[in-house]
Amino acid sequence: MENRVPAHMRGQILDVDDYSTNLAHLARNGLRGVSFTGGEPTLNPDLPALVARAANIFDRVELTSNGRFFREMLPALAPHLDVLKISLDAVDPVVRSITQGTDAELDRAVGSIFAGCAAGLRVGVNVVVMRSTVDHINGVIELVRALNAKGLPGTAYVSLLDFYYSEERRAVWQEEFFPIEELATRFTARYGPSEAQDRFGCRFFWFDADGVQVRFKDSQGATHRAPKCRGCHRYCQEGIYGLKHSAEGWVTTCPTGDPMFGFHLAPGLGADEADRRIASLLRDIQFAHPDPHSFATMLETHGLTLGTGERKPLAVIG
Ligand code: SF4
Repeated sequence: MENRVPAHMRGQILDVDDYSTNLAHLARNGLRGVSFTGGEPTLNPDLPALVARAANIFDRVELTSNGRFFREMLPALAPHLDVLKISLDAVDPVVRSITQGTDAELDRAVGSIFAGCAAGLRVGVNVVVMRSTVDHINGVIELVRALNAKGLPGTAYVSLLDFYYSEERRAVWQEEFFPIEELATRFTARYGPSEAQDRFGCRFFWFDADGVQVRFKDSQGATHRAPKCRGCHRYCQEGIYGLKHSAEGWVTTCPTGDPMFGFHLAPGLGADEADRRIASLLRDIQFAHPDPHSFATMLETHGLTLGTGERKPLAVIG
C-alpha cells in the first residue's frame, strides 16, 4: 500500500490500538482472514503486536516478507501466523544479478524460509515468473525439496506469481512478462495434471513436482473487473478482489489510491459509520467477476506488446 493512499494522509500511521480497532471493524463485516504485506511489513516495529491482535480477530493470518527483519521478529510472530510467504526470485547467481538481488538478500530470504520451517510454519516461497528467470525455477524447487528433506516441523512450498504490470516498469515488463499459463503447460507435461483451488475469487493450480507442492496463480482469469473499473485508463493487473487496508487506515478495493474506490477508516469513526462504508466496498467486490478478456484489455489500454524472448536475458536488464 506504500504510495497507494491519497497524498494528504500518507505517513499518518495508525497506532496499534487504532489499527486493531479497524481490523475488528473489518472482521465484524465478514472478513475472515488478513494478509500483512508491503512494501516490507517487517520495517514496521509494531508488526508483532498487530499480528498478535489480528490472530485474535481473524481465522487466518498471513505475512509476506522479503525477510529483512523477519528473523529478529520471528519468535514474536510465529505463534500467531498461519502462513508465512517469503519472496525469492531465483537461486542461480546469474539470475540473481538480473533480478538485482544481492547475496545478502538471498541469504536473508533463504535463512528466513529455513527459520519459518524450523518454527513450524507453512512457508510459501514466492517467485515472480519472468522471461529471463523462468528456466531457473527448478533451482527454487530443488532448494525447497532440500529444505523439506531436513524434517523440520514446518514445510515449504513454491508459489509462482505473474509479473505485475506497472507504468514505472513498463519497458522491463514488456520484455520480461512471461505468461504463467505457458509455464503451467510445461509443468503439466513434466509432472502431470494439477488440482484447481478457488480462493478469494481467484483460481490457483497446485502441481506435485515430485513431492514439492508448486502453486500457480491464474494470471489472466484472476483479474477481477468490477462495474466501477469500466473506463479505467490505468487498468491494473490486480483488480477488485479483496479489501486493502493501509497503515494509515485507507481502505480500498483499488491499488491506485483513487478516492472513488476507498475511504479513510479514521480513528474515532463510529461502528455504524464504519459498517456503512465497509459494506459499500464489499458490494463492489460482490459485483466483480473475473473477465476472461481483462488481460487483453490491459494490453490494449496501455498499448503494451509482449517480448518475444529472442533477446538474451542478460541484455534485457543486466
Ligand atoms: S481496480 Fe479497477 S479502477 Fe482500480 S486500477 Fe484496477 S482496473 Fe482500474
